Amino acid sequence: MLFDERPKDRKEDLFDREREVEEIINNIKRPLLLISGVRRIGKTSVLLVSLNEAKENYILIDCRKLKENYGRKELYSLFSEALSSKISYLKDVLEKVKGISIAGNYVEIKWGGKNYISLSSLFDELNKKRLIIAIDEAQRLRGPLSKEIKDAIAHAYDYDRNLTFILTGSEVGLLHELIDVENENSPVYGRYYLEITLDRFNKERSKEFLQRGFQEISIKVEDKIIEEIVNYFDGIPGWLTFAGNEYATKGKIEEVKKTAVKVAKGELENLIEEKTKKVSYITGKRYRNALKCIAKGENSWSKLLSCMEKEEGSTISTSVLDNIIQNLEKMSIIKDYEFLDPVYKEASKL
Ligand code: ADP
Repeated sequence: MLFDERPKDRKEDLFDREREVEEIINNIKRPLLLISGVRRIGKTSVLLVSLNEAKENYILIDCRKLKENYGRKELYSLFSEALSSKISYLKDVLEKVKGISIAGNYVEIKWGGKNYISLSSLFDELNKKRLIIAIDEAQRLRGPLSKEIKDAIAHAYDYDRNLTFILTGSEVGLLHELIDVENENSPVYGRYYLEITLDRFNKERSKEFLQRGFQEISIKVEDKIIEEIVNYFDGIPGWLTFAGNEYATKGKIEEVKKTAVKVAKGELENLIEEKTKKVSYITGKRYRNALKCIAKGENSWSKLLSCMEKEEGSTISTSVLDNIIQNLEKMSIIKDYEFLDPVYKEASKL
């Protein structure tokens, strides 16, 4: 069902994306792959369908569950959960490893004490069998442990030929900062990776997506409405899915838009809070003002500056504004003074 709001994991349920899935499968033996694109563009779905089509054993680490200042305990608990899901395949490898205990189907990686195992050693152990380590929303691994994670990935890249890492990320600049292969000081310096970037569907494909989705749930929807949904939500499949579902239950396009904006507003607030809570309340306010000004159409550095200064009633320094723009770009919220997600744009006006 196209309008199922969970990530798709079967080829039959995935609309389009044949080329991307094929590219991933053709390169699945490489040490490192990245799947990037804005939120809701379908990264997790493309990842899961590719893994299932490739018929490979994999574990999935979902970093959405990590808090910003996560520690080893939280990281290892994610790995424990992922390894537990593949216990029947990995049991013979894991049961001999110091620092790992197995009780029934549950794997526990110790995160402290004498028997603690490092991430690099864990990868070396896992390398005894072919395994794909898929890390969803990997930019969330940045933080206190990021050096160790980069070291471990670089080590596995060089020595663990049975492992493939596939990382997805919706804050693309931050994902690139984690896998910073061009920076001499980065542990992963000089390693090659293949990046698959997911783009939005064009108008025609978006219409087809909605038509097929509505057909599947046996709801007749006028072309005019389909057109309106496509125009408002652009070709971002997650929003099209959301809009399809909401329209099916509410039957009013204005209501659908309102609910979407509310959801987007909540997400934006979380992103801004995570980014700025360690700095100050005023910084958070500045990000909101910047987004509001960009949403109003202030599409150059100087226009943005004067709009923000008006909002705040005081002057803003060059470096402060540069920093905000840079961060919003790294978070894939804007690019060249335009929003990457039309719903985030509307939410920023509130
Ligand atoms: P991301 O990981 O990029 O945030 P997801 O894979 O979670 O995106 O997809 C977001 C939503 O959109 C989910 O409900 C998913 O089922 C749907 N979706 C995304 N891409 C497709 C696609 N190509 N075909 C069908 N549904 C899709």
